[in-house]
Amino acid sequence: MAVMLEVAEFKNAIETDNLWRVYRIGNDIEVPALRGLNLQISPGHYIALKGRSGSGKTTLLNCLSGLDRPTSGQVSVLGYDLAKLNDRQLTQWRREQLGFVFQSFGLLPTLSAYENVELMLRIKGVRARERHDRAMYCLDLVGLRKWVEHRPYELSGGQQQRVAVARALVNRPLLIFADEPTGELDSETAREILGLFQRIVAEEGITILMASHDPLVDDYVDMILQLKDGQLAN
Ligand code: ADP
Ligand code: MG
Repeated sequence: MAVMLEVAEFKNAIETDNLWRVYRIGNDIEVPALRGLNLQISPGHYIALKGRSGSGKTTLLNCLSGLDRPTSGQVSVLGYDLAKLNDRQLTQWRREQLGFVFQSFGLLPTLSAYENVELMLRIKGVRARERHDRAMYCLDLVGLRKWVEHRPYELSGGQQQRVAVARALVNRPLLIFADEPTGELDSETAREILGLFQRIVAEEGITILMASHDPLVDDYVDMILQLKDGQLAN
């Protein structure tokens, strides 16, 4: 049974106040991955979260998408104070308002490109005709109209990532989190994906926060946030 989420209004798509995430290993080892982050990101922007491996990028994305709970501090995303949502509400909120793109694409190998995208709408209970129209619209938007019947193993890495982008878009999210989306792509293909995100932000009015240590991203994004040892460096 779906729970109703109260409609939220927001000025910033993402806001954090003194956000800490400290991992505990055993009884006495503490790893402070995020150390007092204060962030404000207004909607409709394409933002890169940069920083070397281990700087806290993935931890931050997990805290912002409700996949992980902060050790202390506040997180407000799309107008929701995440601490006030229980796990079930968080799952529903994530499904309805967020999209995700990962480094390793994460497609289901036995499903076609079309089925990978359309599945998200089945889960949501959208009726057949609308599922078809919306899935095709998104696959067209990412330039894969001719490839909809193909399975992931029949597609190049860049094409698989395009399917993943279409899948992230299909539920009309307000915000997309991408974690190292070009990590497994050659630089030409990486540029295609980075440019595709740029177009999506401009045309669909979505906010994209992309963790990456790829220097290519500088040419595409509206703003760069630099993380260093769990703190903002700029
Ligand atoms: P990035 O995505 O920038 O590479 P991470 O957020 O993955 O950085 O990691 C930040 C720090 O937190 C690193 O020191 C990492 O080793 C540590 N870390 C990440 N996940 C865990 C975990 N589940 N348990 C313990 N330490 C973790
Ligand atoms: Mg990471």
